[in-house]
Amino acid sequence: MPTVPTVPRPIPLNPSPRALNYLGGYPAHLQQQVQALIDAGKLGEVLRARYPGAHDIRTDKALYDHVTELRSRHLRGAEPLSKVAYDSKIKVIQHALGTHTRISRVQGGQLKAKREIRVATVFRDAPPEFLQMIVVHELAHLKEREHDKAFYALCTHMEPAYHQFEFDCRLWLTARDAGLWAPPGVRA
Ligand SMILES: [Zn+2]
Repeated sequence: MPTVPTVPRPIPLNPSPRALNYLGGYPAHLQQQVQALIDAGKLGEVLRARYPGAHDIRTDKALYDHVTELRSRHLRGAEPLSKVAYDSKIKVIQHALGTHTRISRVQGGQLKAKREIRVATVFRDAPPEFLQMIVVHELAHLKEREHDKAFYALCTHMEPAYHQFEFDCRLWLTARDAGLWAPPGVRA
């Protein structure tokens, strides 16, 4: 009697090769590992296990207080910030992301002249580590304009796990686009 064929793995929700646009600056073998997780439908749950938390920095006021506290702890010499806010107009770019550096600029735009820090609204519902990464990144730009050695040294001074968080944040953005990350309160 013939057996019913089993489906070897879940059908990917979004098999588009564009899913890896956030990882363009990383080595091919890492991208292949991520693609395998996407194909298996597991990228979201892997990230959820590693980053189970949520933060309660929901308002612009709470974000301002959080960023200001970090600034005064790590960047005493830097000038005060006139404004810190979530900005729904900042779009995390979806296509042709080729470098490490462009994404963060787009995610968390910083208007240097006015000393404002804006964080894309998508980070309101991000695991706290990813909000921290963006905040640290934009704070570091108060002192270092380019994405150079000095810039990343400042990032890792403020957040020792900065590089891990940046990579995993890109995985998180990838998982969101692939429909593999449920919003808070929604159980898959
Ligand atoms: Zn930047």
